[in-house]
Amino acid sequence: MKKPYYIDYRQEPFEGHAHRYLCADCKVETTTINGQLSGHLTTCAYRLALEKAGYESSGACQTPASLDADDVD
Ligand SMILES: [Zn+2]
Repeated sequence: MKKPYYIDYRQEPFEGHAHRYLCADCKVETTTINGQLSGHLTTCAYRLALEKAGYESSGACQTPASLDADDVD
């Protein structure tokens, strides 16, 4: 299972930065997360919850084999 973008996580303002936001769980900036589950820390509650629910954290090295190798450029 995979979503194109993971943006339904809780966010909080980046203290001292008016238009910047962090994941409320792992404190990674939203622009760093960039809509990707793998953008969150591996310890992030949001990421863990979605991984537990069966969502992939990315096309990176976490998938076992190569059923879909269409990420290759
Ligand atoms: Zn997070």
